[in-house]
Amino acid sequence: MEPQRNPLIIGAGPAGLTAALTLARNGVTPRIYEASEHVGGLARTPRDGEWRIDPGGHRFFTRHKEVLDLWNSLLAPDDWISVRRRSAMLVNGHYVRYPLSGRDLLTQMGYWRGLHGLSSLLRSRIGRGMRRIGDSANFREWGTDEFGHYWYRLFFDGYVRKTWLADPNEITSDWANQRIKPINWHSRRERDAVDHDVYRYPRLGPGQVWEAASAALIDLGIVPSLGSRVVKIRADRTCWTVELENGDTASGDAVFSSMPLRLLVGALEPEPPRHIRVAAEALKHRALITVAVALRRRYDIPFNWVYTPGEAFQAGRIQNYSHWSSELSPKDWDGTYLGFEYFITPDRELWTADDEHLRSLAEADLHALGIDSSLIERVMVVRSHFAYPISDPARDRSVALVRDYLRETHPTLHPVGRNGMHRYDNQDHAMLSAMHSVARYFGEDVDPWQVNTDRSYHESGVLKK
Ligand SMILES: Cc1cc2nc3c(=O)[nH]c(=O)nc-3n(C[C@H](O)[C@H](O)[C@H](O)COP(=O)(O)OP(=O)(O)OC[C@H]3O[C@@H](n4cnc5c(N)ncnc54)[C@H](O)[C@@H]3O)c2cc1C
Repeated sequence: MEPQRNPLIIGAGPAGLTAALTLARNGVTPRIYEASEHVGGLARTPRDGEWRIDPGGHRFFTRHKEVLDLWNSLLAPDDWISVRRRSAMLVNGHYVRYPLSGRDLLTQMGYWRGLHGLSSLLRSRIGRGMRRIGDSANFREWGTDEFGHYWYRLFFDGYVRKTWLADPNEITSDWANQRIKPINWHSRRERDAVDHDVYRYPRLGPGQVWEAASAALIDLGIVPSLGSRVVKIRADRTCWTVELENGDTASGDAVFSSMPLRLLVGALEPEPPRHIRVAAEALKHRALITVAVALRRRYDIPFNWVYTPGEAFQAGRIQNYSHWSSELSPKDWDGTYLGFEYFITPDRELWTADDEHLRSLAEADLHALGIDSSLIERVMVVRSHFAYPISDPARDRSVALVRDYLRETHPTLHPVGRNGMHRYDNQDHAMLSAMHSVARYFGEDVDPWQVNTDRSYHESGVLKK
């Protein structure tokens, strides 16, 4: 006899919605519980009238056909636009294109600074001798080896401090090795090829895809239950019961959970052994506050996003939304639409700061950009609590401990997605982990934890401590 299949899904972000669609396509009707009032999770597009905010700057790209097929099934071809990737670092008042090119470094900030940077680089290369750059122990050493002391200080030291909230001496170099592109000393033609790097983007921001996913599910009779935070997850011998904040309960044969792994372990009943709870407690996140500012004058900033490593800015990065999609702002509007990104840990005061305070931060950063804040037409604030799962070797061991415990003790509980598995996933990997978890639910021998093992290594800011 076929087992009764009535799984429960926690979270209506990319992973939860992908799990739901994949289950539905296999004839199974799941129930979805989402804590917030919207779908899309971190990849949502909050709206204020005709204004839309992308809290991240979500480029859509993947190497996985099944992910691409799902995206294409959700939006019509003319809902996708192709965006040319152009990013820069704003240093000493100069926009220096990123990835860095030797030509720009030598000329753009004045010849004296160019020569100073070059001689600093040569000194560090001579000092390094035969040692491979990758052998450097920490990010600061890696950066000094790779760029020379002068260019490292100018471009990367402040950036890492602001975005990773860590001392560059305490971040190992493996992340940097994989993520930060070396200086391009090649010809203009190769440089132009970099400039023609394009990505796809939904006209109305990333949430458009996830709203379409939700609509497709609703058509199938599966309505995500919004404002439904799961607070307890009880394992009985044959089934699971989730309890919502309002006391309601629901039972099913399996749970797909994209809630943060730490909170999942904390919500489990019976309580996991102490060493598992301690391991889960060690899993921390960085938060992100985006302050979107619409200015009534058009400024020509020819980049999609700009890194701001210097002390003149409190923001670590500035998004230029008009260069993502003109439809993030009202029709025929002709101003400048920027998103100031502040990276913090949720225990910092800034996390609880009110919108007025955050507006004043963005105003100060506008001044640093040389823009008069009296031109502000609108300010919108978006807070993302669990934006970045923090990873380091000790935490990786904690994740492995929790993963093995759950797998062994609760084979029908499937952690999925970025926070669900505490990994630095992009949307495509979060989706793929959900697809593989559903395949496992149907009895296939696949391991969702193998998704993005290279990338988590590539993209995690590995702390040495
Ligand atoms: C700054 C930034 C930039 C990014 N850039 C890109 C990019 O360029 N390209 C890309 O592909 N990806 C990018 N990402 C990553 C992308 O946002 C994530 O990979 C993706 O959103 C992960 O999906 P998810 O469903 O696993 O998790 P989430 O998006 O976090 O969704 C989880 C959902 O679960 C809900 N939830 C949590 N706890 C509970 C609970 N107890 N009960 C019920 N519901 C709960 C949450 O409210 C949320 O809606 C970026 C992320 C950030 C922060």
